[in-house]
Amino acid sequence: KIDVAKVQRSCASRTDGAGAVLVTGSAGFVGFHTALALKDRGWGVLGLDNVNDYYPTSLKRARMKELEKAGVHTVEADLNDRGVVRDALDACKFTHILHLAAQAGVRYAVKNPGSYVHSNVAGMVNIMEEIIRTSPMPKVVFASSSSVYGLNTEVPFKESDVTDSPASLYAATKKADELLAHTYNHIHGVAITALRFFTVYGPYGRPDMAYFSFANNIVRGKPITIFKGENDAELARDFTYIDDVVQGVIASLETSEASGKKPDGSKPPFRVYNLGNKHPVTVSDFVTTLEKHMGKKAKREYVPMPKTGDVPFTHADVSRAARDLGYSPRTNLDDGLKKFVDWYKEFCKGAACAGIQSYVPA
Ligand code: NAD
Repeated sequence: KIDVAKVQRSCASRTDGAGAVLVTGSAGFVGFHTALALKDRGWGVLGLDNVNDYYPTSLKRARMKELEKAGVHTVEADLNDRGVVRDALDACKFTHILHLAAQAGVRYAVKNPGSYVHSNVAGMVNIMEEIIRTSPMPKVVFASSSSVYGLNTEVPFKESDVTDSPASLYAATKKADELLAHTYNHIHGVAITALRFFTVYGPYGRPDMAYFSFANNIVRGKPITIFKGENDAELARDFTYIDDVVQGVIASLETSEASGKKPDGSKPPFRVYNLGNKHPVTVSDFVTTLEKHMGKKAKREYVPMPKTGDVPFTHADVSRAARDLGYSPRTNLDDGLKKFVDWYKEFCKGAACAGIQSYVPA
């Protein structure tokens, strides 16, 4: 059961013209930052998250505490808990849904496929089924991933590229989300936008991701493992700073058309955008910049990339997002990693960091 009064206080907008948005995955990295930024712009924001223990929940709790301070309440529930999702939709009459909740991570999927089917496939269908029973239907923006480009070798990756070669089960479920979204748009006229994020990093980031576990190992004097691709090729990623991603997410919420069929029978389009940085960096160069800000050298161990779903490189073409959303990533790696490390050093003085520094991703 939800606390209706608390929920309605959280989702009431403060500014004329600002919407009311449900942010799923609000205790997660991207959800946390976006929920805060939307609240700051006068939006009514309600969070929903099951606070799962894929990585230490102390970090999710710390994010939720900051959200509560800012007036954003998090309903602790699973996407598949249909009664709770329905109660939240009925209580708030959301204008927008920002669906970010998912089982993330590429390697974890090898041993835990059910978790991806539960959250990314069943969870997506569940929330969409609840959305289509509301009237007027909200606009939906959801997180897809650069991983849908899979084994594509043509760079930069464009939204119009064929994406039929996922390299991981995670990627396959994100592609499935795009296909599901397309059908809800086609049949029910839901205005829906898929955002393909590219390796997002920054303060309050994810301890399962390489940059965070590298920082943990550098601090503790432990070696870091860097994968090498075929013929010893360096892996490269289009690392994107969180504030740039948040800017793109908010622009996509603010520019999407209304849901529902128009009097002439037409429907809003199904849209897909890359939100990347368009400047891929090798993991080795990334580590060098991280070392500079950590003030300590890493013990690097290079190993061949295991067959667990990683791809050799990612590189976004962001011209579509630039044209339609005014998206323009501004934060270079040096500035972005400095901000991450400044946060990390401060956060890891406190109790909330206990368990995070020693956490080893699956
Ligand atoms: P995250 O793991 O920090 O956040 C996801 C949140 O969703 C978590 O707090 C988790 O508890 C919640 N969640 C998972 N399953 C749920 C369920 N069944 N019901 C309710 N809550 C559930 O990840 P993030 O980095 O913030 O990613 C946000 C979204 O962006 C995800 O959909 C992810 O797949 C996607 N994405 C992220 C990146 C990145 O680099 N961070 C890149 C590409 C795509």
